[in-house]
Amino acid sequence: MRTNREIHLASRPQGWPTADTFRLVETEVPTPGPGQVVVRNLFMSVDPYMRGRMNDVKSYVPPFALDGPLDGGAVGEVVASEAEGFEPGDTVLHGLGWREYALLDAKAARKVDPTLAPVSAYLGVLGMTGLTAYAGLLDVAGMKAGETVFVSAAAGSVGSLVGQIAKLKGAAHVVGSAGSAAKVERLKALGFDAAFDYHDRPVRESLKAAAPDGIDVYFDNVGGDHLEAAISSMRLHGRAAICGMIAQYNDTEPPAAPRNLALVIGKRLTLRGFLVGDHGGLRNQFVQDMAGWLRDGSISYDETIVDGISNAPEAFLGLLRGENLGKMLVRL
Ligand code: NDP
Repeated sequence: MRTNREIHLASRPQGWPTADTFRLVETEVPTPGPGQVVVRNLFMSVDPYMRGRMNDVKSYVPPFALDGPLDGGAVGEVVASEAEGFEPGDTVLHGLGWREYALLDAKAARKVDPTLAPVSAYLGVLGMTGLTAYAGLLDVAGMKAGETVFVSAAAGSVGSLVGQIAKLKGAAHVVGSAGSAAKVERLKALGFDAAFDYHDRPVRESLKAAAPDGIDVYFDNVGGDHLEAAISSMRLHGRAAICGMIAQYNDTEPPAAPRNLALVIGKRLTLRGFLVGDHGGLRNQFVQDMAGWLRDGSISYDETIVDGISNAPEAFLGLLRGENLGKMLVRL
């Protein structure tokens, strides 16, 4: 009998999750029933949206069950199959992360080619966060060549791709904000025209200095003071793709900002929220473009890798604290 280890939700956090939020549980490695496969996970994703799923509130994805395993994106190798078209050794992408072995209906697994890219890329640059950047910038915000773009959490998985895609699509000036001097340096190396550490001074001041003539597009990963600053800096008919508001995911009180929302009227701004799940129609075009950019070296991507299922909670907390450069992943 082989042992599987998985992470359960032990308690619902108020504010920041702690070690008590999670429990490492040992179970038996399952055997597949008809139409099922067992996958040995190689990498699992930790993502900011998982914080929302720890609360017992109705949202666009159901909350995690208390005392049950967490789930999320993962990529792994089929080790047992009772499903036609799936063989041991196949590499698959699926939604049962936070565990070493996953039992799933083959319908819920998508085969990926491990010879085309490192398998971890299917959770980031070629996966969900890559499509989020692509769809949010080009479809939701409708960025056009010659425009000025600002992106927050710019050294993270989504943000670092937004800035690079913007440059490739002809943005005149791309500004990123991030949480450390090292991240700011990395953004400049990735081709951002300007970047600042949002701890240095109020975001509004830093953004005005980095884009003195204003911005056309804001890709919001942070909310709060960043969204307020972007609204202030937006030109007439500016557009914001509202992707995430990580600054408030652990808040226990409603945030104060943005206090300047009335500017939306006079400047005729569009603030448009979106979910990547609604943009699956762009997937083929995205994969084709992104694979080309990776092949010819016009896009680079970073990964921060934490080892072992027992360290997955720490990886998740590290993501919320900004300890990642690029995509935060757990290698199992
Ligand atoms: P990232 O790789 O960007 O990691 C999160 C980053 O957020 C951290 O590295 C940290 O970087 C930054 N951060 C944390 N707290 C704060 C804060 N208080 N103020 C400013 N920055 C902060 O994660 P993802 O790329 O996976 O996700 C980025 C955003 O996109 C999130 O808001 C997420 O919820 C959203 N998202 C939305 C999707 C959708 O369908 N709408 C799909 C996927 C992601 P730093 O050091 O710079 O502070």
